[in-house]
Amino acid sequence: MILDKDSSTAAWDVAAVRAEFPILGELVNGQPLVYLDNAATSQKPLAVIERLDAYYRAGNANIHRGVHALSQEATGAYESARKSVAKFLGAPEERSCIFTRNATEAINLVAATWGRENIGAGDEILVSEMEHHANIVPWQLLAERAGAKVTVIPVTDRGELDLDAIPALLTDRVKLLALCHVSNSLGTINPVEQIIPLAKEKGITVLLDGAQSTAHFPVNVAKLGCDFFVFSGHKVCGPTGIGVLWGKPDLLNAMPPYQGGGDMIDRVSFAGTTFRKIPERFEAGTPHIAGAIGLGAAVEYLMARDQASLAAYEHELLAYATEQLQSIEGLKIYGEAARKVSVVSFIIAGIHPNDLGTMLDVDGIAIRTGHHCTMPLWARFGLEGSCRASFAFYNTMEEVDKLVASLKKAQKLLG
Ligand SMILES: *Cc1c(COP(=O)(O)O)cnc(C)c1O
Repeated sequence: MILDKDSSTAAWDVAAVRAEFPILGELVNGQPLVYLDNAATSQKPLAVIERLDAYYRAGNANIHRGVHALSQEATGAYESARKSVAKFLGAPEERSCIFTRNATEAINLVAATWGRENIGAGDEILVSEMEHHANIVPWQLLAERAGAKVTVIPVTDRGELDLDAIPALLTDRVKLLALCHVSNSLGTINPVEQIIPLAKEKGITVLLDGAQSTAHFPVNVAKLGCDFFVFSGHKVCGPTGIGVLWGKPDLLNAMPPYQGGGDMIDRVSFAGTTFRKIPERFEAGTPHIAGAIGLGAAVEYLMARDQASLAAYEHELLAYATEQLQSIEGLKIYGEAARKVSVVSFIIAGIHPNDLGTMLDVDGIAIRTGHHCTMPLWARFGLEGSCRASFAFYNTMEEVDKLVASLKKAQKLLG
């Protein structure tokens, strides 16, 4: 993280924060849960759990079109969640925030609509070697149909984008740059403020995959200058099944619909149907109303934290974990970018990541093992995957110690 020199971790009261996440008090396999799988999904604070509970207990109704009080209340809550999301993203207009199922659906929506209209034979879609499969496969499917090509920005040994390679890759054939803001496998924060202007100068449309960045630091789509930005609710303390596509309003309104059905139409007749403007244009059918409301509560929760001390605290966690893990013989960390979030991928020589993950689970420690949906990235490092410990602002230094002790124990048994 970008560290403010004056910020102090003492300002971050982790015990108080932990008390807001009931699951952190659970036992797993008879041991206190040590949850280090935050890059896969985050845990949920009471503010979100209670908001969902209250909605289903006292506020449930279908939205829009309803004349009765409960429907109007639910519509208000749903639209107010959209306002919160717009604030969270620094989006000037809330109508430009479309609720989707997750980041994956948001990317597929762009591929199926904008992509169908704008990507043709001979065109190129530029991605990077560190992309999540969700930001590779939809473009491959589109490219195959359109006769286009997916091209790739390489990754260096340290796990950073090879910036020197980018200018030559931004050819006149490139119509879209689809890039992760932060890598889920390496923790690398990509210098998008440097890369986006290069693409925009050439008239290239830019989609940022913010599924990891939004969990660690504030973003501002207006300042970033991208055209599309996507993220998932469940990685930012919100519910599963809800995500967001943000897009520039003119771009979104010019796109053909994604799914047809209720709510997205203007007038329907068998002679022809016309469609509404955003956001309804892309929200066919009854949406995940509770999910959106829960996501609104989640981003309000995050925005109310002190961002400087949160960032400083996560940075301390990352530095301490990196240092302690390196004390383990034969352990190698993948992802040594100068700017990274609190994600540590590693392997221990001679031991399969899955075996380590299984041993740690016995001690109540949840890490992720495998390819983390980034197979091309691991192929680049000659691996099939890694162990990944990903830390959130509610993790502690003691949990780092437990992780290291459990790894040393497993190494003795398996090595
Ligand atoms: C998790 C993740 C995705 C996909 O998110 P879903 O919630 O599974 O749709 C995409 N990109 C990155 C970088 C991710 O970490």
